[in-house]
Amino acid sequence: MTRILVIYTGGTIGMKQNPETGALQPFNFEQIREEMPVLKKFNFTIDAISFHPLIDSSDVQPDFWIKLCRAIAENYDKYSGFVILHGTDTMAYTASALSFMLGNLEKPVILTGSQLPIGAIRTDGMENMVSAIEIAATRYRGRPCISEVCIFFGTKLLRGNRTTKDSAELFGAFRSGNYPFLAEAGIHIKFNHNNIHRTGQWGKPLHLHTNLDTNVAVLKIFPGLNPQLMKNILSLPELRAVVLETYGSGNAPTTRWFIDTLKAASDRGLILINVTSCPTGGVNMEKYANGLTLKEVGVISGYDMTTEAAICKLFLLLGQEGDNEVVKLLWQKNISGEMTIN
Ligand code: ASP
Repeated sequence: MTRILVIYTGGTIGMKQNPETGALQPFNFEQIREEMPVLKKFNFTIDAISFHPLIDSSDVQPDFWIKLCRAIAENYDKYSGFVILHGTDTMAYTASALSFMLGNLEKPVILTGSQLPIGAIRTDGMENMVSAIEIAATRYRGRPCISEVCIFFGTKLLRGNRTTKDSAELFGAFRSGNYPFLAEAGIHIKFNHNNIHRTGQWGKPLHLHTNLDTNVAVLKIFPGLNPQLMKNILSLPELRAVVLETYGSGNAPTTRWFIDTLKAASDRGLILINVTSCPTGGVNMEKYANGLTLKEVGVISGYDMTTEAAICKLFLLLGQEGDNEVVKLLWQKNISGEMTIN
């Protein structure tokens, strides 16, 4: 018996205009159901739960991810798949975090939302939600077709920890610059089976990793970066890791103060991860002399990971392991298909 659980957390999909201020604010899930009688046409069970309070996803914090993981764990045995209705602003962060926090996942967890509220005439919420539910219910060779955390948006199903929101305007709001889409919805939903994660060992119990350490900073490198600002960030007392968003294939300035600042931080044990600010492609610190200098002072490659995935992976690894040197080793291992190591 196929049973899908829809978890409504907030976001534009379920928002309506406040008549006094004109701003969008969340409304309760029963109203979404009224707007979507089409859900009754599926020949399987769809249940729904709603979070309280409903939030604009720009209010998402790690506690919210823990709450989501627990909601999935509590309902894991009762349902064949999960669809999470979530705001688009931080959906890529939530998808990345969940992909690391839900250990041994064997069922689909599909996040979706919309650019226009469900009640709007041209809403994309209806298509997104209906396709996400259909994907979550699809089986392949006797098992759920998808057994990972994904985002369905526009026409594409994307691996969650490979996504970035890249449009505040278009219905195809998410990009997976370094990993092919897992399915495409047209007249039929076509799955790209070769790129879908298939777990080798079935039957292991779901294992939640809810211990997160958020002592992580992101430092975007740009011409004119203030030396004192960089030094101040890197010497924050509790800080354990920094994601450096660099140029191209992982390059940064070779100015003396810049390299010395990084070296001093690395020598103090800080974990320095290099991700590219480019929408596609990854880090190769051996390609240019500038990149090589970073490697020599202890900067570690983030390969082709998104900044979102790098932050969330650090939260998880730092939460699991108190020794930064061990975290550096653990970093090299793929947890759930978040990076391509050549
Ligand atoms: N601010 C909204 C949110 O992320 C935007 C959206 O849902 O698209 O919750």
